[in-house]
Amino acid sequence: MDRVRDVRTLPKAHLHLHFTGSMRPGTLIELADKYGVHLPEALRSGRPPRLRATDERGWFRFQRLYDIARSCLRGPEDIQRLVREAAEEDLRDGARWLEIQVDPTSYAPRLGGLSPALEIILDAVETTSRETGLGMRVLVAANRVKHPLEARTLARLAVRYRDRGIVGFGLSNDERHGFARDFDRAFAIARDGGLLAAPHGGELSGPASVRDCLDDLRAARIGHGVRAAEDPRLLERLARARVTCEVCPASNVALGVYETLADVPLRTLWRAGEPMALGADDPLLFGSRLAAQYGIAREHHGFTDAELAELARQSVRASAAPEDVRAKILLEIDEWLAL
Ligand SMILES: [Zn+2]
Repeated sequence: MDRVRDVRTLPKAHLHLHFTGSMRPGTLIELADKYGVHLPEALRSGRPPRLRATDERGWFRFQRLYDIARSCLRGPEDIQRLVREAAEEDLRDGARWLEIQVDPTSYAPRLGGLSPALEIILDAVETTSRETGLGMRVLVAANRVKHPLEARTLARLAVRYRDRGIVGFGLSNDERHGFARDFDRAFAIARDGGLLAAPHGGELSGPASVRDCLDDLRAARIGHGVRAAEDPRLLERLARARVTCEVCPASNVALGVYETLADVPLRTLWRAGEPMALGADDPLLFGSRLAAQYGIAREHHGFTDAELAELARQSVRASAAPEDVRAKILLEIDEWLAL
């Protein structure tokens, strides 16, 4: 009989967390009051709104809420607070390593331009990591509804700041817009510059979008990718290539990708030998953080403690953490299981 250990003490890596989406709801309310920003009830109530991103209007609503939250981050001190609190929340949830995803374009106008914005973010991450002890790195993410030239600029910028803590390059926003191949040049710049390719795919769109991430962007990890479960051959390919899916169960249900938590195909991916890194995506809007995703695997998919430990190992192996850091976390996972 397997013992039920606390998932919050299970050491893990968090590889799918968006910048503004990591904000504490209480912090958003405080910042909105500070700047006189009117928050819609959905953001003020502290209860996450039920969204339906599977239709265009629902996705638009999600983006609008996200934009309002982002507009409350105005000064370097707000950025520092956000990063610090994201780290504190993740530490409480057992994270030993966090890769936070950000599109600096959105913050550039208020922070003096693209490079200054990125520098403020990287400074905040470095300081927080040093002071809290949580290993932290940054993924720069381009926006797929914007022009691919913007993505190239971002990729070059990300490569230039690589030694300041940037480990990867992503692509976010509505997968139904445009084609992954429109961003192939940007991803080539990022990969040639030594960054890991981690675009979103297989969330709002089906298996074809995951295949595009592999073929056109040579993804090393897929943001979400869960809908690869609809195509056994694709899943086999992902598993063979050891391309990890950053699966975010609570987000999937909040955005209407799946009806219930039990419908998220965690077991299908697991049985196919597909590595996963569970993530919270946008806890501000989806209402649950990192450890809760492991709780969902246990409660809704019957993952045993040994299986949860293996999920945590998969998250660590897929991370960009240095080898010695990975080895240490893997050891701590064994210790958790041996308790
Ligand atoms: Zn995401």
